[in-house]
Amino acid sequence: MKRILITGGAGFLGSHLSERLLNEGNEVLCVDNFYTGSRSNIHHLLDNKNFELLRHDVTHPLFVEVDQIYNLACPASPIHYQFDPVQTTKTSVLGAINMLGLAKRLKIPILQASTSEVYGDPEVHPQPESYRGNVNPIGPRACYDEGKRCAETLFFDYHRQHNLNIKVMRIFNTYGPNMNPQDGRVVSNFIVQALKEEDITIYGDGKQTRSFCYVSDLIDGMVRLMNSEKSFTGPVNIGNPKEFTMLELAEEIIILTGSKSKVVFHDLPEDDPMQRKPIIDLAKDKLNWKPTINLGTGLIKTIEYFKSIV
Ligand code: NAD
Ligand code: UDP
Repeated sequence: MKRILITGGAGFLGSHLSERLLNEGNEVLCVDNFYTGSRSNIHHLLDNKNFELLRHDVTHPLFVEVDQIYNLACPASPIHYQFDPVQTTKTSVLGAINMLGLAKRLKIPILQASTSEVYGDPEVHPQPESYRGNVNPIGPRACYDEGKRCAETLFFDYHRQHNLNIKVMRIFNTYGPNMNPQDGRVVSNFIVQALKEEDITIYGDGKQTRSFCYVSDLIDGMVRLMNSEKSFTGPVNIGNPKEFTMLELAEEIIILTGSKSKVVFHDLPEDDPMQRKPIIDLAKDKLNWKPTINLGTGLIKTIEYFKSIV
């Protein structure tokens, strides 16, 4: 049994990771400031004697005793990370410094939830880990993209300078139960709109692409990475390489919900990436990982969840 710290543990991914690690017999210390996370994501875990919740902001130092750290704290949806961009950069950068400091003091492994956004609006398609990206450093997405890029820099400097056991995971768009219905991401928006028979809001012409990974696949990749051999630091792409346009996603959700919603077109947000698809050869090779759940199956599970809360 390990004692495992998850920052951002009350968020979408953190709540699934908490559940998975508890089910494997570990103790979980969930640290969250509830900026985008919610108690309802974890309230079924609160009675578990191996689960502990601490309200704390990772921009401040934390002194606890644990065996592993998963650093997930950071708003992930564009509307939330752009709402208070200075705080977003602080969370990524100061949060990384504080958690790396803790990992260094305790001499324990630490995993960073990085993102495909480090590739920006990619000119290389699909994206291998060796691609250095095309990020606008002064645009509205920069607080998130550059914050996450700086966090990766810090992770690798702690590794080189202090021989810290680091794991850097570049997460591509992930969806599933426990997404916040108001968080503005495309899968949650489209499902909620379809269930309410409201217009489905496509930004731009809907021909931009994303590759969607179901949450249980993603969490499996995350746990495999944390427990991989010390010499494997990443960065490693974890995502589902099947690529869809936003129009195709809307059509699929309309069919699966049986909704009468129509699609409507809104302006494309500034710097919205036009394409995104991971190359996952490294994850296959080093972690023996590949996604197992296709979009239709994952959407059905996600629609069931939203039906229960909307
Ligand atoms: P989320 O917004 O649901 O969860 C983030 C959690 O971090 C929330 O519970 C929030 O309250 C907490 N948090 C934010 N700022 C904090 C702070 N300063 N101190 C403590 N807690 C704080 O997002 P998510 O989808 O679960 O994403 C988790 C991580 O994975 C994030 O770091 C995100 O950047 C990364 N990621 C997610 C995706 C995705 O598709 N879900 C894709 C790429 C990367
Ligand atoms: N999007 C959309 N309608 C919405 C929400 C998002 O067309 O209601 C588009 C958005 O412009 C982007 C894609 O869907 O091209 C994915 O957006 P999301 O915010 O989920 O993630 P990210 O842009 O960070 O990949």
